[in-house]
Amino acid sequence: MVDADVLVVGGGPAGSSVAHALAICGIDVLVLDRARFPRPKPCAEYLSPQASRILARMGALNDVERSGAAALAGIRVYAPNGFVIAGDFVANHGYHGFRDRGLSVRREILDAILVQRARAAGGRIVEGAKVTDLVRDPSGRVRGVRATVDGAARELRARIVIGADGLGSVVARRLRLARRLRWPRRIALVTHYRGVADVGEHGEMHVAPDGYVGIADVGGGLTTVAAVFPVRRSREIAADRTEFLRRWLFDQRRLALRFASAERVTPVVATGPFASYARRAWAPGAALVGDAADFFDPFTGEGIYSALRGGELLADHVSEMLAASSPELADGALREYDRARRREFGGKWIVERVIGAVVASPRLINRAARQLAARKDLADLLIGVTGNFVPPREIIRLGYVWNVFIGSVP
Ligand SMILES: Cc1cc2nc3c(=O)[nH]c(=O)nc-3n(C[C@H](O)[C@H](O)[C@H](O)COP(=O)(O)OP(=O)(O)OC[C@H]3O[C@@H](n4cnc5c(N)ncnc54)[C@H](O)[C@@H]3O)c2cc1C
Repeated sequence: MVDADVLVVGGGPAGSSVAHALAICGIDVLVLDRARFPRPKPCAEYLSPQASRILARMGALNDVERSGAAALAGIRVYAPNGFVIAGDFVANHGYHGFRDRGLSVRREILDAILVQRARAAGGRIVEGAKVTDLVRDPSGRVRGVRATVDGAARELRARIVIGADGLGSVVARRLRLARRLRWPRRIALVTHYRGVADVGEHGEMHVAPDGYVGIADVGGGLTTVAAVFPVRRSREIAADRTEFLRRWLFDQRRLALRFASAERVTPVVATGPFASYARRAWAPGAALVGDAADFFDPFTGEGIYSALRGGELLADHVSEMLAASSPELADGALREYDRARRREFGGKWIVERVIGAVVASPRLINRAARQLAARKDLADLLIGVTGNFVPPREIIRLGYVWNVFIGSVP
């Protein structure tokens, strides 16, 4: 006797995406989230055009646009030496047939819309339900979860449990699949301001020797501010994170004046450290998706896309798993999901790690910015890869790396 065919832990972008994709096929899905929507989530809140396409497939794009989200034309990366890498989403690479835009929208708004789409498709969503452990049979196969629902302890059973519970996932930890990279170890401070001067239609990443900050218009006159620092600064940050962020922003030559008349309107929230991944994204009776399966660093800003796309990929394999006639075939369907993830995201993982290393080194980011400032074509290609509309192989090749780091500076 099961409480649902599929039990999804977490109703963020990954959980809502997989729940929506399964529910529209008539599969019985139950989503448990410890929060109540709308809820905030620390994030720089950019979405590339590829993410918008998945929102359209979920029937969420119109609601997101109507909510007052800001359109995003591309990203500007400001290096410590003052050079700017300017990449546009609308660049004409020939990889897609039409011009498209990105979005930036508050997660409080986006995630509530996504949960609503999963619900409208037929998914059952229980809010205020915190999962604390997994239920397993004597062979170790996952059979359900233990949760606290509105303060009461419950045990819920399902044919598969999906961990879509984000960074620090309890499902990944209980399955002993979670791993942390030793480097880079970074943490973030995130908030919203009103009245930041000169915020345009490009998201901005400002890289400093001791951290970086992403800022963007998120609609409604608000600017999202997500600053990332090495974990060694956590003691200073813990002493007073609000004051730490204020001082750091005012120490940035390019930003101080722009923030001079701005007012902070949401509390400064700390999150991290990141750079975690699951050894594999499945176990008998369970699968992982979104940040629960992998989250490297916010710099490339594409976690929401990976969560949404990962949810779509997983749904295909869960349908096969539910139709399997033996536990071995069911496991095979999930093993295949893991391979599909590697095929889909493998190239991007390499690019993210290289960018993570470059951002940590003022010498490398300065060199790359000098080259890319003079080569808009190469900058657009980079933004295209990080925005998931250009295949990573276009920049994981010697010619590109040579042009960015070694070729003569114009
Ligand atoms: C500083 C920062 C900036 C970022 N900026 C961007 C950006 O600009 N663009 C972008 O695309 N991505 C960005 N990301 C990444 C993005 O936020 C994540 O990749 C994305 O939210 C992953 O979605 P998810 O559904 O996997 O997890 P989440 O969005 O974290 O959702 C997980 C859900 O699970 C619930 N949950 C957790 N534990 C439990 C439990 N035990 N029981 C029940 N429910 C539980 C939570 O309440 C939550 O609703 C950023 C991340 C950080 C840290």
